[in-house]
Amino acid sequence: MKSLTIHTLIITVFFFTIPTSFASPPRLEDVYSQCTTDFKPSNPNFPIQNFTYTQQDPSFLTILNNYVRNLRYFNNTTRKPVAIIAAADVTHIQATITCAKRLSLQLRIRSGGHDYDGMSYLSTVEFVVLDMFNLRSIEFDPKLDTAWVQSGATLGEIYYGVANKSNDLRGFPAGICPGLGAGGHFSDAKIVDAKGRVLDRSSMGEDLFWALRGGGAASFCVVLAWKIKLVPVPGKVTVFNVETVGNRGGVNTTELVLKWQEIADKIDNNLFIRLTLSTSNKTVKASFMGMFLGDSTKLLETMNTDFPALGLNKTECLEMKWIESVLFWLSIPPGTAPTSVMLNRIPQKQIYLKRKSDYVQKPISRTGLDAIFKVLLENENVTMAWNPYGGRMSEIPSTETAFPHRAGNMFKIQYAANWLVQGEAVANECLSQTERVFEAMSPYVSKNPREAFLNYRDVDIGTSLNSTYEEGKVYGVKYFKNNFERLVKVKSRVDPDNFFRYEQSIPVLSTYNRNSQTTQNMEKLLVISLLLILNSVATSQPVTDPVAFLRCLERQPTDPASPNSAVAYIPTNSSFTTAALGCARELSLQVRIRSGGHDFEGLSYTSTVPFFVLDMFSFRTVDVNLTDGTAWVDAGVTTGELYYRIAEKSNVLGFPAGLCTTLGVGGHFSGGGYGTMMRKYGLSVDNVVGSGIVDSNGNIFTDRVSMGEDRFWAIRGGGAASFGVVLGYKIRLVTVPEKVTVFNVRRTVAEGGVDLIMKWQSFAHSTDRNLFVRLTLTLVNGTKPGEKMALASFIGMYLGGSDKTFNVMNRDFPELKLKRTDCTEMRWIESVVFWAGYPIGTPISVLLNRTVTTKAFHKRKSDYVKRPISRTGLGLILKKLVEVENVRMFFNPYGGRMGEIPSSRTPFPHRAGNLYKIEYLVSWSEAGEDVEKNQLARAREMYEFMSPYVSKNPREAFFNYRDLDIGSSVNSTYEEGKVYGVKYFKDNFERLVDIKTLIDAENFWKNEQGIPVRR
Ligand SMILES: Cc1cc2nc3c(=O)[nH]c(=O)nc-3n(C[C@H](O)[C@H](O)[C@H](O)COP(=O)(O)OP(=O)(O)OC[C@H]3O[C@@H](n4cnc5c(N)ncnc54)[C@H](O)[C@@H]3O)c2cc1C
Repeated sequence: MKSLTIHTLIITVFFFTIPTSFASPPRLEDVYSQCTTDFKPSNPNFPIQNFTYTQQDPSFLTILNNYVRNLRYFNNTTRKPVAIIAAADVTHIQATITCAKRLSLQLRIRSGGHDYDGMSYLSTVEFVVLDMFNLRSIEFDPKLDTAWVQSGATLGEIYYGVANKSNDLRGFPAGICPGLGAGGHFSDAKIVDAKGRVLDRSSMGEDLFWALRGGGAASFCVVLAWKIKLVPVPGKVTVFNVETVGNRGGVNTTELVLKWQEIADKIDNNLFIRLTLSTSNKTVKASFMGMFLGDSTKLLETMNTDFPALGLNKTECLEMKWIESVLFWLSIPPGTAPTSVMLNRIPQKQIYLKRKSDYVQKPISRTGLDAIFKVLLENENVTMAWNPYGGRMSEIPSTETAFPHRAGNMFKIQYAANWLVQGEAVANECLSQTERVFEAMSPYVSKNPREAFLNYRDVDIGTSLNSTYEEGKVYGVKYFKNNFERLVKVKSRVDPDNFFRYEQSIPVLSTYNRNSQTTQNMEKLLVISLLLILNSVATSQPVTDPVAFLRCLERQPTDPASPNSAVAYIPTNSSFTTAALGCARELSLQVRIRSGGHDFEGLSYTSTVPFFVLDMFSFRTVDVNLTDGTAWVDAGVTTGELYYRIAEKSNVLGFPAGLCTTLGVGGHFSGGGYGTMMRKYGLSVDNVVGSGIVDSNGNIFTDRVSMGEDRFWAIRGGGAASFGVVLGYKIRLVTVPEKVTVFNVRRTVAEGGVDLIMKWQSFAHSTDRNLFVRLTLTLVNGTKPGEKMALASFIGMYLGGSDKTFNVMNRDFPELKLKRTDCTEMRWIESVVFWAGYPIGTPISVLLNRTVTTKAFHKRKSDYVKRPISRTGLGLILKKLVEVENVRMFFNPYGGRMGEIPSSRTPFPHRAGNLYKIEYLVSWSEAGEDVEKNQLARAREMYEFMSPYVSKNPREAFFNYRDLDIGSSVNSTYEEGKVYGVKYFKDNFERLVDIKTLIDAENFWKNEQGIPVRR
């Protein structure tokens, strides 16, 4: 830490007192410091000036040098950073990222400075170093199973802390440790991404978390801290270091190495024997340095059985605590230093060095070994450390983390050349020797690609000058093999601007055109929002002052990365969304999102408070992928368009969604979405596999992974309008037969309708799941003048031909007396037209009509029935229906697939146990308050009358049949929300509240029936 600088003052004086014509341009480092100082939010307890070191600062070089581990990259000619920010607070990291972006500086992130080729503190272009050494706290959980470790902590500090805290019962597998893979030992991370957001595992998504583990985090973000899993270690471990020059006990070095190759990757997982090959007095020296997680007796038993040739004896074995073994591996002679030396952060001695790596997958023959020894003797400055794999390393799949070198590898070679003397000649000689040994090893090591270990950073295997995918692939496949492509995808998604780039970073996919997806989406939002504002004005919707809104939009910064902006962390190409959402905040406007406009209570385009509409009608892409049977469907697509586009490509694929063909996918899917195939395939949301969403800060999550499982769960039935703007859904298509059969058989009460309804109640939910028979109850004229009676219509569809339909119906519902002439076979897509109410034979192109030709006034209500209604009950209901008039009732059967899906899988909870759902429909065409009151009263009366026959505590309701009568929110409280929430979502309501609280704590996305925030 250092004292407060006077940068602010200097800059101010500089700009205001020197006449422009004489002024030399401000120094980059000053502009940078000023930028970070101005950054908001800042933490007043940690003014960033105290942690910023520019080249003028007297301690600049010391700070830079403190964590330089390779002297090759610290001399007079090495380019120095514009500034070093020794971050002590997350806001410092955010400021550093923002300002580096603004001034087009590259960022180098340094934790311990051990990058062998100096990539954490070196660059060929202007750059800043974000130094993490101040962020080094370690926090243990009470059970000592895990610890949060900040990035700047050294391994020594972690080992020491773990051992001390656990009384030597725990360790952590990093650095050198037998038989354990480290990747799986990170269970969480906290990062700051390119937008300056602080994310953890759940908010960053599994893909990014995967990439960080082995893929080199510096390509993706700044890691603030890791959550590590601690492992138990025995009270005693045993170490040894057997060195042989020429031969040992009559066995020559070649033989010993041959034997080592046979056993090292197969021996007891508790035993790790590293072989180091170097030269001594023109002879090859082999060191077998080992550690056993147990005592010496057990170790000797194992060695005598598996590696007797080494002749390890008791006197060569040293028993010690695991923490002491850390010093042993650092070549500190046992007993010469306390374990606390591992807390020294600054190395005693700095050296020049070069490292390279290789993987060996087949044993090297005796002849091969002799040739290698010869090369080593000719290049005496190079040593090779052979680190055995096998054990746990082979069990972990190579795709589990980004680190790919798992099963199939016997050992990894590290080539090392160290020298102490400055000067080009020595450096060149050492580098050439390393190169020669590396070349000579090519016949014996992995090929296509010649694999390399990322942590043994080696610029020789390829570097990136222009940040292209092709350049990146050269080194990328060596470090990551097949995982490289996935890393590129993650990178392209989380950092499309390639802000986190350096000489060996993961490139952005060249074909990934973020403009084509994200920007287009955003442009659509722009156009549409403006349209709607204007539309709102034209139609006198209750937008208080559209001009103020437009002015506000104009005032929003065009450079969204501006640190002074309240909307600083947003993708540069989504400025409009951010601006619109920012203005919604500034002017206290609510946002209403509309896709198809079918909300029964008009919540997508009305509000009692000032608002604007974000209309999604331009989001119209349907991208059907026949190869994997999926489709991406934009939020503004209607169900009719979706069905049509699927049928355009295939006769045997369809999708289970609503009967009405002008519903918008955005609202319809986000509320569940049922249709005639639900008994076979469930709801729309049961077949949704991905989605994209924009949050209130304009952050775009383009897939399920990035938005996180919780958010993804919530928007499949919980009403997306409480969580953000859904851009679209990825759906799994379902198979449909080439022919389906439809029918519509009507019977009045006078024609035996009551018996049929009674039978329907037991048949419809239990029959063949290919069959869906909806029952509608409407009124028709009776036999006497002015008399009305109920008409029961059994409208059905069987997913198959008429023969099969006929058989199933005659078996399960013979009372209906379905005749062959009642049945019409057609393509599934034609049945969609039939269900939408068009006469049979209407061309399917009608599905592309988005607008509803005849508009009417509507009220809908819903109920769930769990026990068949008695004949007496039914009689009363039918009588009441006649009495209230103008109320229709549609009964939709459940059962089949609907009964199998657990009620917590999606927010839609009405699964097993429901026989059918009732929809109450009241529609009228005449405008006027009195008419409306009258019609609503009828709907409510019928609904009240039904209470004894339907679900209770809660009286369940279907979210897509929006009904403000069941409760609405005025003050956005949890209590208000619970009233309607448990009816729509039952037990899932609490989880929805938890998710809402987590991702939208300010309750930006609210409406009269939104999910409340838990306070
Ligand atoms: C004539 C008619 C027939 C119907 N038939 C069926 C049926 O067969 N099956 C069925 O399940 N339902 C049916 N419904 C109900 C229908 O599914 C819901 O009304 C659904 O919400 C409509 O979606 P929408 O996008 O058209 O409506 P909108 O009014 O645009 O939206 C409805 C709700 O979703 C929100 N929303 C819309 N788009 C987004 C988005 N992109 N991101 C976030 N939130 C968004 C809105 O803000 C609003 O809260 C029918 C409705 C009508 C009017």
